[in-house]
Amino acid sequence: MKKTTNDWLTWIELDEKAYAHNLAFFRQKIRPGVELSVVVKANAYGHGLRPIVTLAQKYGVDSYCVYSLDEALALRAWGIEKDILIMGPVPPARLDQVIRENFRLALFDGQTLAKLDEATRRLNLPVRVHLKLETGTFRLGIGPKPDELEPFLTRLRQSPLIQLEAAYTHFANIEDTTDHSYAFQQLNRFKKLVTYIQKAGFTNLKLHTACSAALLLFPETHFQMVRLGLSQYGLWPSRETLVAYQIKKVNNNLPVLQPVLTWKTKVSQLKLVPAKETIGYGRTYQTSRPTRLAVLPVGYADGYDRRLSNQSYVLIRGRRAPLRGRVCMNLIMVDVTDIPGIQIGEEVVLLGQQDSESIPAEHLASLIGTINYEVVTRLSPHLPRIIVNSDNKKI
Ligand SMILES: *Cc1c(COP(=O)(O)O)cnc(C)c1O
Repeated sequence: MKKTTNDWLTWIELDEKAYAHNLAFFRQKIRPGVELSVVVKANAYGHGLRPIVTLAQKYGVDSYCVYSLDEALALRAWGIEKDILIMGPVPPARLDQVIRENFRLALFDGQTLAKLDEATRRLNLPVRVHLKLETGTFRLGIGPKPDELEPFLTRLRQSPLIQLEAAYTHFANIEDTTDHSYAFQQLNRFKKLVTYIQKAGFTNLKLHTACSAALLLFPETHFQMVRLGLSQYGLWPSRETLVAYQIKKVNNNLPVLQPVLTWKTKVSQLKLVPAKETIGYGRTYQTSRPTRLAVLPVGYADGYDRRLSNQSYVLIRGRRAPLRGRVCMNLIMVDVTDIPGIQIGEEVVLLGQQDSESIPAEHLASLIGTINYEVVTRLSPHLPRIIVNSDNKKI
């Protein structure tokens, strides 16, 4: 039997309408014919790979970007026939699987190229590669000097079954600043490298550079394909990106992105704690009044960061209930003294919206010194994820 929220102590709800809205928004941001590829690495940024891919298929993305071969294989196993680009390294021993499944492969080192040439000849099957160009992020990539490309291009010319489908790069400093000059330096380096490749005889290349922030801010980064990660889930890459976007669009202050994820739980126990008692491990919180405490079945094992101890709050009946004491492995305690009438089993929001209150991922991120990307990505894969409509009907 299919489980429902009645069977769970804590779970994640994904708002179908919000996801559809975000995709429609990004579709109209790009020129017709530009390939809208969604990045679903890291369990779809913690949202859940399977349900997100279900929604992405339904609302019409063009292709997928993943980090690992295993993620790509999972998509194929679910019947996804669209193109899938593997952006991370693949163990040489598994390159046969890349070829057999007709995945697109990011290429950034000579050893993989040699092995790929050998494997395509042995299997007598072609493979499509996307050349990852180093333009100043200094992560995966070849370059930044054009002559560093020469050995690759020579080898590619001698590898009849390896098809150079695309060239791409990734920006280092587009989210963290409102000064985008370094991104434009990278863009210029990219264009120089691409010209070099084209002059070497590789034409009809698909080009792509845009992550969410670039997609939002700079149409000149879109080329023939965009790699939309975080913002498909309704989150802004940074406050700087939001500010830069608003400056560009002075007359439009409407929130354009709708967060997709809400993390919920239910009250497991209620108790009255007298004044001057301490709560939880290490006795870090002492009550100053008789306190009505709710115990919630969520902890750092689920991805509720322990650094939120005594820092954050949850939402019950649309009101804030502050954490008391340390976050445990599987449990937290919150103060509900000022929210009368709470019952065992009552629904609690840990991240996301409830009535008119909300706990944005950015808020939890700022409390623990990280970014919204990390807060959602670290939500434990074991949490059940379900798709809901905005009117809360399960589908
Ligand atoms: C993760 C990633 C993206 C997506 O970035 P967002 O900021 O989440 O949109 C795009 N390109 C590469 C190479 C990535 O690793």
